[in-house]
Amino acid sequence: MPQVIVNLAYLVASILFILSLKGLTHPRTAVRGNLMGAAGMLLAIVVTLLDRAIVSYDLIIAGLVVGSAAGIPMALKVPMTAMPQLIALFNGFGGGASVLVAGAAVTETILIASGFSTQVTVSIAASGIVGAVTFWGSLVAFGKLQGFISEKSRSLPAHQLWNGLLGAACLALAAWLVVDPTATLSYWGLVLASSLLGVMLVMPIGGADMPVVISLLNSYSGIAAAATGFVLSNNALIIAGALVGASGIILTRIMCRAMNRSLTNVLFGVMAPAERTSAAGEDIYAGKVKATSPEEVAMLFDTARRVVVVPGYGLAVAQAQHAVRDLASALESRGVIVEYGIHPVAGRMPGHMNVLLADANVPYEKLKDMDEINSTFAQTDVVLVIGANDVVNPLARTDASSPIAGMPILEVDKAKTVVVMKRSLSPGFAGIPNPLFAADNTLMLFADGKKGVLELIAALKET
Ligand code: NDP
Repeated sequence: MPQVIVNLAYLVASILFILSLKGLTHPRTAVRGNLMGAAGMLLAIVVTLLDRAIVSYDLIIAGLVVGSAAGIPMALKVPMTAMPQLIALFNGFGGGASVLVAGAAVTETILIASGFSTQVTVSIAASGIVGAVTFWGSLVAFGKLQGFISEKSRSLPAHQLWNGLLGAACLALAAWLVVDPTATLSYWGLVLASSLLGVMLVMPIGGADMPVVISLLNSYSGIAAAATGFVLSNNALIIAGALVGASGIILTRIMCRAMNRSLTNVLFGVMAPAERTSAAGEDIYAGKVKATSPEEVAMLFDTARRVVVVPGYGLAVAQAQHAVRDLASALESRGVIVEYGIHPVAGRMPGHMNVLLADANVPYEKLKDMDEINSTFAQTDVVLVIGANDVVNPLARTDASSPIAGMPILEVDKAKTVVVMKRSLSPGFAGIPNPLFAADNTLMLFADGKKGVLELIAALKET
């Protein structure tokens, strides 16, 4: 295939990737954006297959069949709440693929054909290091989120020193490969050291820091892919990898801000271990928690002018989004203003709540970001917190030893009345008690998210 056609097709694919990212920035255009990205990727794959002198398609077809057989059921069946694990796994596979392609380049003809070019050897080393860190780091993140390994922080004595030594070993082996590209042992040594580094970087991270690390690994997988693009001289791979790398870093920064972590700490893997502490003591609830009923809450709604719904992980577990939309419609038909307060890390993945509520056709203008909604809580009659816990925990403001210390929260405690709907007083992801449940202006409605909302709708009809 003439090179100009190949490059033109890659250019079209790259434009589709960029339009895809733009589409993904808004729920209304997200599906179109996703399709554009998929179309761009299909174009890039077809052109690559036609361009490269493929000796036999047998293995490629076998790979496609095995990959599709594993991927399609996974995508269809995975619950929304397990999405972070799946993303961690996909990031890992991307990193692993980069390691294998760069490894093949070392042992195969690509390196020789390039005349042992320094650009190619540096790219091979970068693919190996970043790819192996991504693969093993992602597997550890997957294991933690899936509960295969303890999600608590685990570190060795002088952990950062070991990380430093492993990092230095990776760089030394990379230098060896660049100086002597025929020394294939240096590549596999570098992969081994980076694999250990990947495990070591993620093992100490636990609790509420997990979303940041998934997002960072996502960025790493893009960087590894871009490096592999240089190995294979494939422009589409370089551009796609750079886009994933850059968007992953931007998301990491947004997550860092939302969780009050510094990006430098994340990049150097020295996040504070999120050991679960019961900072405020389990007895903060003793005698102070006031349970309520759907009928009582319906009466509160009856006199309310403004209601803010704060959804969290429990809303996703209960799949209560459609019921919540129906409740909002019932309230709006009585002239109540209903809005939603969305915390950037509510749920178990960035944008989790936006996706759920968009799925239930909640108008996007009603979803208010944390910064926007926080200033309005003081003028809110009732805040209905459904299955959210850490993102509304005032300990973030008051207890410097808490694992969520400094994390900006939705300041629902400033509203006139707070109704918290969850099944018990159990803690959320960070494993700490929540003084909000014992606050004077809080009422606890102990119920499953969906069942509780349906009961509220029924009680509203009675009033
Ligand atoms: P939390 O995890 O803090 O709390 C969720 C609450 O939901 C629990 O206390 C639980 O209480 C309740 N719940 C569970 N099932 C149900 C149900 N069926 N019906 C009603 N309630 C239910 O959630 P938040 O959204 O407030 O906070 C998210 C946490 O997850 C943060 O710590 C964040 O850092 C972390 N995280 C976020 C990620 C992201 O990218 N968004 C990724 C990974 C982690 P009970 O059992 O009593 O019902």
